[in-house]
Amino acid sequence: MAATRWHVRDFFSSLILHRGKFDLLQIGIINRLLKHRAFQYAAMMVNLFVFWVIILSGFFGSPVGNRNISIVFVWILWWFALIVLMVPLLSRIWCTMCPLPAFGEWLERRALVKKRSAFKYLSLRKPWPSKLNNIWLQNLGFLAIATFSALLVTRPVVTAIVLLILFVVPVFLVLIYSRRVFCRFICPVGGFLGLFSMFSALELRPKDKTLCRNHMTKECVRGNDNGYGCPWIIYPGGLERNNYCGLCFECIKTCPYNNLALNLRSFGGDILAKTGRALDEAWKSFIMLTLAGLYILVMQGPWGVLKDWSNVFWAPPYGWALTGVGGFLPYVGIFWGLSLAVTPSVFFLFTGASKLASGVRSVPLKKLFIDFSYELIPLALMAWIAFSIPLLLVNWSYIVNALLDPVGLGWNVFSGLYVPWTPLIPAVIPYLQSIVLAVGLAYSIKYSYRLAKQNFPEGKAALKAFLPQVVFLTFVSMIFLWLFMG
Ligand code: SF4
Ligand code: SF4
Repeated sequence: MAATRWHVRDFFSSLILHRGKFDLLQIGIINRLLKHRAFQYAAMMVNLFVFWVIILSGFFGSPVGNRNISIVFVWILWWFALIVLMVPLLSRIWCTMCPLPAFGEWLERRALVKKRSAFKYLSLRKPWPSKLNNIWLQNLGFLAIATFSALLVTRPVVTAIVLLILFVVPVFLVLIYSRRVFCRFICPVGGFLGLFSMFSALELRPKDKTLCRNHMTKECVRGNDNGYGCPWIIYPGGLERNNYCGLCFECIKTCPYNNLALNLRSFGGDILAKTGRALDEAWKSFIMLTLAGLYILVMQGPWGVLKDWSNVFWAPPYGWALTGVGGFLPYVGIFWGLSLAVTPSVFFLFTGASKLASGVRSVPLKKLFIDFSYELIPLALMAWIAFSIPLLLVNWSYIVNALLDPVGLGWNVFSGLYVPWTPLIPAVIPYLQSIVLAVGLAYSIKYSYRLAKQNFPEGKAALKAFLPQVVFLTFVSMIFLWLFMG
């Protein structure tokens, strides 16, 4: 009881002393847990087991999507937990427990848990190509997977094949390039996790950057007997943003000065960070914002023909032009064209308007375009959360039934127990979605102004540059509102 009182008091004093941040590593049990070498291993093992059940179920279970856990667990339960809970609250905590890189990492380290003292990576350790030192591959990979989402969310075997590929690729990559190049540069999920983690309420940061600068041996990079050098190929002592920190917690094990903190903080803490801003991340915002709208339109909208088009194998009886490839190709064109060209172009026009309105010529348009793109993160994240709300509220009964009969082959151990499809509060869902979207809009507007202030610190130029951005954000929100309300 006394310990609890101490932590509560410590929490509030820390919030005041450290400008609204609280270091979770001050809590003894969290500190000990995250420093324990078995922690990440245990978390990955649990998910490894679940994922292999999902893969086997995808190959050998019922081909009916909503009766097979490979669909129900991955595309309803996991997706909801990831986007609604983990990313906003706990940054890239999914990467801590993700089983996809497990085999490669264990093979490369030749160890499961313990850090060997005479350690040598089992890898060619080739340098990652500098041209690919960005998230363009993740942008395109996510778009490609999203394009085939109709197959992914309806056919268990397709989900199983994709997961199997995502298990095999990291093993080859690790043997050539070493460490987590798959997570950092390839994983299609990692791209948007990185972007949205900028909004998250959790961060891992050095406590004292001067200490890091002066520390010659930098064990967080090189590793020591307590752990490995950062597997994500970043310098923990210089962290300013969440994007590429996979929360593996190796650095808190290796730092001899305990100079890393795992802070709770306010939402959106990284959006104003100036380091690392680039076009690949800007396009990630455009892709995520656009795809949120398209997913709502195709999967939750009233136009069945769009659903037909999204399925390359669908053959309805109304003419060749709308069947199979004939319908799928225009659908692909819309998906890729809107995400990669139309949304960025419209945003570019509004950014041009911002520059003109500011009256300041010295700020390069490209810089302004990149900087303002970060204002889209809260709105895009909240649009995805809004999209995910009906996934759970409408389909929750599938999760219960999948737990009772995981592969959909009538194994129901509680025979006779079956939960009929019963959507929860369907009439309220559009209002919930609208509220979530309004929160995103409010945050986006707030950060838009602060980004404008960064670029135009003098006089009223920031306010003038900010106004076209507000129009853009409001315009996009109105489209979402129309999609929710029908
Ligand atoms: S985080 Fe620790 S090990 Fe890394 S540079 Fe800073 S003080 Fe050194
Ligand atoms: S910064 Fe630390 S927690 Fe983040 S990926 Fe690197 S070693 Fe892991």
